[in-house]
Amino acid sequence: MQRKLDRQRRANNPENYHANGTVKLGAKQWKRSKRSQDSLDQLREIQRRLAAHRKSLHGRLVNEIVELGNVFKLEKLSYRAFQKEFGRSVGLRAPGGFVSELRRKAESAGGKVIEFPIRNTRLSQRCHCGQVHKKRLSERWQGCACGVFAQRDLYSAFLARFVEQETNQLHAGQAAEAWTGAEPLLRTAWQQAVTNQPASGRSNPSSFGATRSWSGSSVEGEIACTKARDVVAYPLGTARARER
Ligand SMILES: [Zn+2]
Repeated sequence: MQRKLDRQRRANNPENYHANGTVKLGAKQWKRSKRSQDSLDQLREIQRRLAAHRKSLHGRLVNEIVELGNVFKLEKLSYRAFQKEFGRSVGLRAPGGFVSELRRKAESAGGKVIEFPIRNTRLSQRCHCGQVHKKRLSERWQGCACGVFAQRDLYSAFLARFVEQETNQLHAGQAAEAWTGAEPLLRTAWQQAVTNQPASGRSNPSSFGATRSWSGSSVEGEIACTKARDVVAYPLGTARARER
């Protein structure tokens, strides 16, 4: 629809364009035909419906989440930087708006949303045993020599529980103590995400790496969806997205 509008705008205002198609500088008069106005109205209607649908999906997901607790820890991410890097996908999903909605509902339920800076934590690279594994964005699994094996995003979420609010540092000792109990929970969460897709009405992003089995038997060589680009985290304020 945007392309159609652009064609109509050019057809209605040929005097405003150079021969090579670029817009002339300076003050111009823009004429709009009846058909072009119809296109604009249609476009606005599409955008309005899209926004309303997104709002209702956000609301539903936020409601599911606030049933699980009332204090939520998030990595402080620059959704603006996401949008620059990932464009349409982020524009459609509006993660910043989602977090605002989560914050609003959490606070009205007496809870809160805590966003901690990721400069010191870098959860996707850390193991609670203390080892650091640099991963590319495409590597969706956390595997460590100490025996820890988990889907990367779920493992990062587990670690986020143990980021201290005052210092913004990961308390690895607490994470290590909790791991034995948490591992089955993460495994179950992953299995539900993979098997319950039709029921939940959502599909996993390919970046989730769901086609891999949670076996831990072969960390090497079998990483799913290596082409997938996801929007998981780069530090606030970095001008360019970096793989972390
Ligand atoms: Zn480890």
